[in-house]
Amino acid sequence: MNLLQDIVYLKGVGPAKAELLRDELGIYTLRDLLLYFPFRYVDKSQITTVKQIQGESEPVQLLLECVSFTEVGMGRAKRLTGRFRDSSGDIELVWFKGASWIQKNFQIGQTYLVYGKPALFSGRYNIPHPEVEWVEQSRWNAGNTFKPVYRTTEKCSKKGLNSHGIAQLTRTLVSQLPAGLIEENLPEYLLMKYKLISREAALREVHFPQDSKKLESARRRLKFEELFFLQIQVARQKVALTKDERGVVFEKVGDLFLDFYNNHLPFELTNAQKRVVKEIRQDVAKGFHMNRLIQGDVGSGKTIVAILAMLLAVDNGFQACLMAPTEILAIQHHQSMKELLAPLNCEVALLTGSTKTAERRRIHQGLLEGSIQLLVGTHALIEPVVQFQKLGLVIIDEQHRFGVAQRARLWAKATIPPHILVMTATPIPRTLAMTVYGDLDVSVIDELPPGRKPIETIWRSDSRRLEVFQFMENEIKKGRQVYVVYPLIEESEALDYKDLQDGYDSISRRFPRPQYQISIVHGRIKPEDRDYEMNIFIQRQTQIMIATTVIEVGVNVPNASVMVIESAERFGLSQLHQLRGRVGRGADQSYCILMTGNKLSNESKTRMETMVRTNDGFEIAEVDLELRGPGDISGTQQSGVLQLKIADIVKDQSILLVARECALEMVEEDATLSLPKHYSVRRYLDEMSRGNSDWSKIS
Ligand code: ADP
Ligand code: MG
Repeated sequence: MNLLQDIVYLKGVGPAKAELLRDELGIYTLRDLLLYFPFRYVDKSQITTVKQIQGESEPVQLLLECVSFTEVGMGRAKRLTGRFRDSSGDIELVWFKGASWIQKNFQIGQTYLVYGKPALFSGRYNIPHPEVEWVEQSRWNAGNTFKPVYRTTEKCSKKGLNSHGIAQLTRTLVSQLPAGLIEENLPEYLLMKYKLISREAALREVHFPQDSKKLESARRRLKFEELFFLQIQVARQKVALTKDERGVVFEKVGDLFLDFYNNHLPFELTNAQKRVVKEIRQDVAKGFHMNRLIQGDVGSGKTIVAILAMLLAVDNGFQACLMAPTEILAIQHHQSMKELLAPLNCEVALLTGSTKTAERRRIHQGLLEGSIQLLVGTHALIEPVVQFQKLGLVIIDEQHRFGVAQRARLWAKATIPPHILVMTATPIPRTLAMTVYGDLDVSVIDELPPGRKPIETIWRSDSRRLEVFQFMENEIKKGRQVYVVYPLIEESEALDYKDLQDGYDSISRRFPRPQYQISIVHGRIKPEDRDYEMNIFIQRQTQIMIATTVIEVGVNVPNASVMVIESAERFGLSQLHQLRGRVGRGADQSYCILMTGNKLSNESKTRMETMVRTNDGFEIAEVDLELRGPGDISGTQQSGVLQLKIADIVKDQSILLVARECALEMVEEDATLSLPKHYSVRRYLDEMSRGNSDWSKIS
């Protein structure tokens, strides 16, 4: 058996499922499946009875028979309650959304495994939005105590690849694995010192743990491994850069920079912007290699800093490029750079996945010959076919979507590696930033441009929707534009899309054509259409933009003054803050309206109150850290600071610190990792860098 074998060859997969696994879940090979870890486990040994429920804090698992359904309430307050029972008593399960779907899919008299947090309501417990699974009694008694729960998508679920279906595949795979096939990738001395179990044992145990203790050691081992290899990369990069890499020198501040700075800046820079520009200038003049992270809250004006740095490169005879995480953003950056730099007579090219062949050729040629000096684009920039004559500076916008390894690939594009500037709005507390982006120096833009009115944040319950519509109408009458954002979570994708559609319908009724025009953007819309919808909003042809979080990052529409966030309780704090940052970019007073249901957990309340209280991204990040204590693995993973498979840089800080220490020590002693005792580490790194689809995610 070869773990790099295509997933299609696993028993039970076949071409159709293989395609879904690839496209939806990024699982190409057997190894990918083996590394597709459960994000949660249901402890099957623990079944609570209705009578035993004691409080609201802990989720419970019940085995319940479905008795009946009733719909109660009106309009948006409408909910569906299901009566369920076991031998000890009755309990209500409550859904505020998706009533018809639920009624269609449940059968009266059937038994279900129900998992969720009880809520106390009028002296009785109910369970809002539980996870429910149909169980066959016979299958129920067999099997492991811990059942893995895998992340999946609606499309996969429909074709039998729900969590259970994926578990069947991992079970097949794990049971077929010959002993010894999975090689250890950590040195023996580390395993001993930190009492880590072997990689092989951990990978088997993490999917089908025998008990909670074994699960814990498997997870600890895999987290350590993940963080260790992340830190090894960071450490090696740092050593490589300080030891042997000379940086290109931008010694002069030339005509382009000065002309732009003195005559064409559309506004005066804030002191923070000036300071960061200065830090960059010092870096690039020294002859060292710049590797700098600019952290600046949303709207703090990072783009202009990037432009100035790029001009500095061109003044010194180098090319510069700016890489954005999405096509929409790349187009926007390109557009605004073209306008700003128009008086300077300096071409800015745009290269994305959808650049037409002829234009693409022209750009490739121009970059190679040096006739194009400035380039803006997406991931398309890191493809090997894109070659520069003299690349001196690479700027990466919204850092968290690019890993260490991706950055490393950029350097291959020049004999002396270009200076690197990464810009992020994700407010990560400084200590964490240093640990995760340990190879970077950090600059902070801690000041917003003047004259900007702080965004006013308002928290409203769903029942006041009509008022909110009225408010939107008033703003639109003043010529402003409005975003309405809906959550979209993988695990509840189907229901979420339904909500989005319902929302779209009710907004379209309230704001009818032709008086009003509405844009809609979400993941099920083709990328071309998404860009089109986004562009007509940018051009003010539509007044309302209905979207999922695809608009979270970077988009700049200064005329938009209202951000309505639906089901705001379902977003994490950092996401809410990012979304709010989409407004308040012009001179007008802007508003963020958080819409929630009436019944909220204490944590959700704290999140809403924090948003209402402060606009400060760093303060919000601190609260966020506090809130995300133990538990709830999925939430942090989705907040997207880093795409880690199993570890969590917030909760697993103690493991992170140890792993970092080990990695630094190892690299200091043996930068090339060629000592025999480091053989396993070296071999694993080599294996991973050899065309692995996964590596960028790990790093
Ligand atoms: P972000 O840091 O979120 O990328 P942008 O660079 O997109 O922010 O800037 C947000 C808005 O603020 C833009 O419309 C930009 O033109 C404006 N802006 C940036 N710096 C200043 C400044 N010093 N004075 C006034 N407006 C500014
Ligand atoms: Mg930006």
